[in-house]
Amino acid sequence: MPEINDEEKPVKKIEELMKWERQNYEVPELSGKIIVPPLKTNASRKYFPQLFKNKEALKRLGYPLDGLVPDWREKFLQKMKEVLNKYRSVKLFMDICVRCGACTDKCHFYLGTGDPLNMPVARQGLMRKIYMNHFIPAGNLIHHVTSSEVLTEEMLVLWYTYFYQCSECRRCSVFCPYGIDTAEITMAAREILNSIGLVQRYTHEIMDKSQYFGNNLGMIPAALKNSIEFVEADLKEQTGKDIKIPVDIKDADVLFVSPSADFFATPHIESLYGYAKVFHQAGISWTVSTYASEGSNFGSFVSNYNNMKIINKRIWDAAKELRVKRVVGGECGHMWRVLSSYSNTMWGKFDWLDNRYPIPQHICEFTLDLIKRKAIKIDKTMNDNFIVTYHDSCQIARGSEMGGTKNGPYEIPRQIIKACVNKFIEMPKDTIKERTFCCGAGQGLLGDDMLPIRVKGSMPRMQAIKLVKDKHNVNFLALICAICKAQFTGIFPIYGYNMEEVGGVHQLVNRAIVLGEKEGL
Ligand code: SF4
Ligand code: SF4
Ligand code: SF4
Repeated sequence: MPEINDEEKPVKKIEELMKWERQNYEVPELSGKIIVPPLKTNASRKYFPQLFKNKEALKRLGYPLDGLVPDWREKFLQKMKEVLNKYRSVKLFMDICVRCGACTDKCHFYLGTGDPLNMPVARQGLMRKIYMNHFIPAGNLIHHVTSSEVLTEEMLVLWYTYFYQCSECRRCSVFCPYGIDTAEITMAAREILNSIGLVQRYTHEIMDKSQYFGNNLGMIPAALKNSIEFVEADLKEQTGKDIKIPVDIKDADVLFVSPSADFFATPHIESLYGYAKVFHQAGISWTVSTYASEGSNFGSFVSNYNNMKIINKRIWDAAKELRVKRVVGGECGHMWRVLSSYSNTMWGKFDWLDNRYPIPQHICEFTLDLIKRKAIKIDKTMNDNFIVTYHDSCQIARGSEMGGTKNGPYEIPRQIIKACVNKFIEMPKDTIKERTFCCGAGQGLLGDDMLPIRVKGSMPRMQAIKLVKDKHNVNFLALICAICKAQFTGIFPIYGYNMEEVGGVHQLVNRAIVLGEKEGL
């Protein structure tokens, strides 16, 4: 590794550069069209997230306790070397970009801000410049002259800013002829930043709660049980039936895991009503776990497998402890990505579960199978006041598997919606399925400190929503991601829409499922 020869400067300067202040912002105007904006250099440079300063939590997570470490340059380059060796794809991505420009206008954060550093190639370029300067022998490449930079304090601040203006949605990779995945580069960059003490507050505060309480809300088992009792009482009042949400039941057939928001937040909780009715009506024994009371996994936002593994392990330990036969996951994008794509590389093959069923299985696949087999009945007319469109959550559409078919992540939720409503409208084809736009808040950006960038990053998706609202009177946006639900309910009012127009796919199931004598299985 070449020597670092730029002048040492006091650490304090960086802390001043990174002093977080609430920022004003303009809400993008909605016209129904996604227009590529003119370049606005530095337009979003002021939007960076707050740092995490809780020393006890930082210690538990294994990060430096006092902010930026004094020997940060050396540590940064050491960590970067380790990361480049560990994630061969990241090193490959550093080498193979031909700067064709195909990705430049594909990122929602570029479209929403016009800031050239939000072009995926430029975001990657922040890492590539350091890679060229510090890891490629000088004089080897023309690139070395044109695109290398010394690791300075200013560069460090750019990293912390623009690698937290990426929601790791992978949309840019769909358009790159080489499949370069900026999301992986962002995850690696965040791992490097964490190692030198630049730890983002929102993600790590929640990750800490999740590791030590078993859920993102820091909720103790009694609080979960209270909430469930409330839901059961409400279900009884609504339906006259004893629809249960069993807790910690040994030998149940199914362990159900969901984001903890499903137990408390609106509109998430309406999907919980839907899941409960599906299990009840199908007559399948199930349980939730107070130990694994969180499906979502904020560890996946950073390429640090250790933290992701710790959170993920609770689910498989609970499944063993409760001696269930199946694990079914609820509506959450990154939860499903970790469960479906990473779990079996972390904790084994789960061959002790019943292999006649997918391991794990998504609740949408589970419900659709029951609908197709007529094990549950649906009355579409119960949703006749809704004209529905569907937002493909990108962690599912571009990061996960569902139903064992290539189109499963797109088609399975749509088939449930179409079974539950009479009026379904697609948004424009460049904004759905594989080409879906992120909601603007994924992978660690949902905190209030990032509201300005969340609003701007949501612009392309909101334009597509505006189009179908104006043309077809769409009044319900269906989703299967907890973060998307939180983001859209937060920003719909900012754009002048009603937050009640946002909800889960199982919210539609909740309204349309016919309850009666158990039949069909
Ligand atoms: S599309 Fe791929 S190869 Fe082209 S500039 Fe973007 S990252 Fe580089
Ligand atoms: S992964 Fe998504 S957010 Fe990140 S640069 Fe690519 S398109 Fe933008
Ligand atoms: S919050 Fe939803 S849309 Fe945004 S990155 Fe996550 S899955 Fe994608």
